[in-house]
Amino acid sequence: MDNTTYIGIGSNQGNKYENCVLAIESICSHKKNKLLKQSSLYLTEPWGYKEQDDFINAVIKIETSLSPLNLLSILQDVERKLGKKKNGKWGPRTIDLDILFYNNQTLESPQLTIPHPLLHQRGFVLIPLKEIDHHLIHPVFNQTVSQLFDRLNDDNHATKIGEERI
Ligand code: AMP
Repeated sequence: MDNTTYIGIGSNQGNKYENCVLAIESICSHKKNKLLKQSSLYLTEPWGYKEQDDFINAVIKIETSLSPLNLLSILQDVERKLGKKKNGKWGPRTIDLDILFYNNQTLESPQLTIPHPLLHQRGFVLIPLKEIDHHLIHPVFNQTVSQLFDRLNDDNHATKIGEERI
């Protein structure tokens, strides 16, 4: 189990909170994965295609003995189990699971790009990542997650669940 990986989790359809919690439980109950850290859950505004419901997003850090492609296949099983329905490229989805980092490896294959190619542009990924590991270094940009966030030109807002103003 010596690989460290970060998984991004998002949902904006159905019971979003439950979808995220069930996805985290399913990933971490796999015998080759072990949960190391979990961010708060955040309510975030949609990115890309704006005319859709807000998302719930989170990031987990796990230790895994799965290879990147085997991990992707496990994440896709979890997505199918939770009934992933996708409506367009950046449209609504029941659950979306992305491999953000895998050790400090870079990988480019038809099925998988690591680090995730859009993570540095997305506040909804960088905010939970920064919460759990702000010193983490992006192996392509050689910048920490905090530095990437400071450079971000993204006015999307993220509110920790439980801290919403009522
Ligand atoms: P989406 O449903 O929009 O998240 O796209 C899923 C597709 O992106 C899958 O078919 C994966 O093969 C591909 N993909 C490429 N890189 C990654 C990554 N780092 N994490 C998850 N999926 C990825």
